[in-house]
Order: sequence, then C-alpha cells, then structure tokens
Amino acid sequence: MNGKFKLITGLGNKDKNKVKSLVFLWAKAGADIFDVSPAVVPLIQEAIVENGLKLEDYDFCTSYAIEGDFHGKKAQIDSIKCKLCNKCVKSCIEGAINPPNIDETKCIGCAHCKKACKYGAIHLYDEIDHSFYDLLKKDVKLDTVEIHISIKDKKTIKDEFKKIIKALDNSKCAKNSKISICFNRKYFSNSKAEKILAKLKEMSGEREFLVQADGNSMNGANNSLSGTIETVAFGLFIKSLGYDVILSGGCNEFTAELAKNVGLQCSIGYGSFARKMTENLSEDEKLKIAKEFVRKTKELLND
Ligand code: SF4
Ligand code: SF4
Repeated sequence: MNGKFKLITGLGNKDKNKVKSLVFLWAKAGADIFDVSPAVVPLIQEAIVENGLKLEDYDFCTSYAIEGDFHGKKAQIDSIKCKLCNKCVKSCIEGAINPPNIDETKCIGCAHCKKACKYGAIHLYDEIDHSFYDLLKKDVKLDTVEIHISIKDKKTIKDEFKKIIKALDNSKCAKNSKISICFNRKYFSNSKAEKILAKLKEMSGEREFLVQADGNSMNGANNSLSGTIETVAFGLFIKSLGYDVILSGGCNEFTAELAKNVGLQCSIGYGSFARKMTENLSEDEKLKIAKEFVRKTKELLND
C-alpha cells in the first residue's frame, strides 16, 4: 500500500463536528485513507453517504491504544495548582483548553500543554474507552485497524494483541481488516522492534499487515525539516524489515519530498500539520490548499 495520502484526525478526537468537517474537506481534496476515533466512525460514514460521496472510494481506519500508549491519554488540570496564566492554551492546537478545564472530547494526549505549564498543574491519565470494542459490533466499513503499541512491556502488547485479533475475527465489520501497527521508535531498539513486529505479524494470520512509523509523534504542526528527518529515517528502517510503511508523527510539507529523495516507497499520514494548514481560512481557500497539498504529495510518492 504505497503512494496513499492518509488524514489522521486523532484517536482521542471525538469532537464529532470537527472530525466531520475535516473528513469532508480532505475527502473532497483527494485523500485516500481516514484514520478517526472509533467513537466517530459510524457518524462519519453516515454523513459521507448523505453528502453523495461513496464509502468505497476511501479506506477507513480506526485505532486502538494499548494501555499506557500516549495516544490513549488525556490531559487534566489540577485546579489548585493552576495559576490561570493561560500558557497552556497557546500550546494546544486542538483548542481543548479553557483553564482550569480541558475538553476531553478534543484532547488527543499530545502533552504539549504539560510541557508548557511551569507550575506542574497538568498531568496525563489513561482514558478508559470502550468505543473500539463497541464499534466492532456495528455494521460499518472498517478497512484497517491500527494498534498503538508504544509501551515498554512486551508481554502486555502480545496479550492485548491476541485479544484484539480474536475480537476482529468474531466481528462483523473487521473480519478482513488490514492490521497496522503504529509505534514510536523510542520504545524499541532495532532488534526489539524486529522481534515484536515479526511476532505480531505471525499472530495476525492472513491479514494484510503494515507498519505506521511514528517518528516524531504529534509534532507535524511544527513543520520543521529536522522534525520529519527522524520520521523518514524510521520509515527506512521499517522498510528494510520488509513491511509496507506509512509515515506518521512529524509529517509535514517536507516529508514526501524527503521520502522520494531517499527512495522510500511509502504512504504518509498527516495529522496536526494537515489540521493546522487549513485553520482560519474560508471554505474555498481550505479546499484549494488541501487539494494542492494532496496532489503534490501523491505526485511525489508515486513518482
Ligand atoms: S499553563 Fe499551567 S498554570 Fe497556566 S493556565 Fe495552564 S495549567 Fe494553569
Ligand atoms: S495540548 Fe495536547 S494533551 Fe494538552 S489538552 Fe491539548 S490536545 Fe490535550
């Protein structure tokens, strides 16, 4: 699965209206894959059909974070420690913070606010979210299931993965879904990454198996060349192991060209960079910019 443009709205992002408008925009712009929270998959698909777009034209992906992975976290402010200085507000590109409150439907657990707070008033906690397993009981189009495995405990990864595969095998919508494993390289040495991927692939049986190389997690909006070099380098390593690769984490305007220059055949997932790119623009301008970005990206990836 190379040469595809994936839009990532964030596993924790359950802001239905926001996700809906992002999916419409990027669907019209030519994106191929949508990676959205399980909580919003049915709504997005209903809305796509109602608006005359065809579900078959897109690959729908949803994610599950193994407990401890940062994608499944939410931020919370301790109102006693909070000085209402508003520093964290600026750091949050999801617009989730109104000190001392955080809108948990918008928070994606990126921890930028925690880093911005000098008073130690923000902590992250693991969200208890049943929406993934609830989704598996529904009649939706689920092409890819992505599992976030950035934790240290390999036994937990394998045990949880076994449970997930069993649930997919018994589900109506994910019987034939592809498996995408997403992880950040900081959690695994090269040899550990090689071993765990081989094991998870074996456990996936006949399912199509790919790896999302999360190089510089949740940092695409910074749009720096150095930020995406790490991602492309990680992608090259994953490719050398023989897997199909989707780059994510730190993907920005430089990523596709860099991947092309180093001969990395891959797909790219854009999260915060894509979301930020169209902020505060008119609907016409948003579509124009998004279309051009998708066109250029796919041209570079398929060259
Ligand atoms: S940066 Fe910290 S102290 Fe300031 S408003 Fe945010 S949580 Fe409160
Ligand atoms: S900065 Fe990140 S972790 Fe903090 S509230 Fe916003 S989305 Fe959540």
